[in-house]
Amino acid sequence: MERNIAAIATPPGKGGVAIIRISGKNPLEIAAKMFTPVGKTKVENFEPYRMYPGQIDGGGFSDYGLCVYFRAPASYTGEDIVEFQCHGGESVARGILKQTFRLGASPAGRGEFTKRAFLNGKLSLAATEGVADMINGESEAEVKAGYLLYSEKLTNKVRDLQSQLKTMLAGIDVSVDYPEEDIEEEHVEELIPQLQKLSGAISALTASYAVGKKIKSGVTVAICGKPNTGKSSLLNRLLGYDKAIVSNIAGTTRDAVEGTLEIDGRKFNLYDTAGVRESGDMIESIGIERAQSIIRAADVAVFVADYSGVSDEEDARVLEMIADKPLIKVFNKIDLTRDETETDADVHTSAITGEGIEKLKALLYEKGFGARGEDAAFLIEERHFEALKRAQDSLQKAIGACRAAQPLDLIGIDVKEAWDALGEITGETATEAILEEIFSKFCVGK
Ligand code: GDP
Repeated sequence: MERNIAAIATPPGKGGVAIIRISGKNPLEIAAKMFTPVGKTKVENFEPYRMYPGQIDGGGFSDYGLCVYFRAPASYTGEDIVEFQCHGGESVARGILKQTFRLGASPAGRGEFTKRAFLNGKLSLAATEGVADMINGESEAEVKAGYLLYSEKLTNKVRDLQSQLKTMLAGIDVSVDYPEEDIEEEHVEELIPQLQKLSGAISALTASYAVGKKIKSGVTVAICGKPNTGKSSLLNRLLGYDKAIVSNIAGTTRDAVEGTLEIDGRKFNLYDTAGVRESGDMIESIGIERAQSIIRAADVAVFVADYSGVSDEEDARVLEMIADKPLIKVFNKIDLTRDETETDADVHTSAITGEGIEKLKALLYEKGFGARGEDAAFLIEERHFEALKRAQDSLQKAIGACRAAQPLDLIGIDVKEAWDALGEITGETATEAILEEIFSKFCVGK
């Protein structure tokens, strides 16, 4: 049984309630020493999963709140847990937490509750990462994808692949142990389609990372074009507040300004780039350099022009930089001219009246993600993507070895490697360093 650990589970600051959580071998014993329930039921006799009102001892003060007991193994960590709900003041929660320490609990480390949940088999490793994705998620899609991970959707798929590999390994072991030549040759033939099928299943998963990655990090959008065409104004319109500095002096957007926008539940990181032109001003030059690197790295480029400019050398330079990217051509300041005939723009906008902004958002979504409605992007974590790729490589090696009629035990090594790589996702083969890396990103109290 593990020592009792305690932490405040709610974020710092003032709020309606704060939650202090104790998990370990006997948190109820600690609770009995610092909680006086209303009524006759003693803390030791608390029914699990039921809220009891009463007085919580904070050391130098008392609070009136609630206490709930979760009985192992049906709890988040798989251990006994007690939680106190107190008034949501920082000093109140801290005082109660300190009292749990005085009574023998130790301070919980980052993610220690979730780590225990993993070690006790309540969650796979990928599911714990789903918890972090949900907590850190900045868009609805990220929360959804985090929930898919947390609810073991990816893990179940991976476990299914692992069990097929295990069966294959068992078959290989039998053939290696009874090496009559015919059986071995026959066996190798049979392995190829099985390995190909598994490899195909992994490819389908890794393919979903193209969308998953953008769900997690957001689609990077570079808004570019000549100064004064209204890039900052469009950015502000899209974000719905004044983030970028708008001015009518050419070259005032000296730095790339970032803003995050959610379109249909998915995250877009918008960058307003300085005009890409030669400049004698040093600070402006730095801004221009940054802008260029942002433009190069962007997933989608929005090119803004207005009535003032037929394409010139500067426009040409920008267009050349974004030639290989999904591009949206915007003709802005449509409120000043109704002549839409001369432009090949995808959308005509006015940052002043808001005209065309919804269409621009729809185009951003389309260029960023393709058609709507494709969901089930299970793969949002780079770590999972890399592990799947390694499993895939091992399977390809195994297929090559089969074709080259290599001995079965050598093929078995590749198959085992694929199993191990998948085990890093579920957690079975994850090293202490991987666990450390994952749980250090959690907050204390989760
Ligand atoms: P940037 O240099 O491309 O970022 O351009 P700004 O957003 O700073 O805008 C330059 C000037 O054009 C400002 O005075 C804006 O108010 C004005 N402006 C921007 N968009 C529009 C628009 O759609 N219609 C009109 N009439 N003026 C605009």
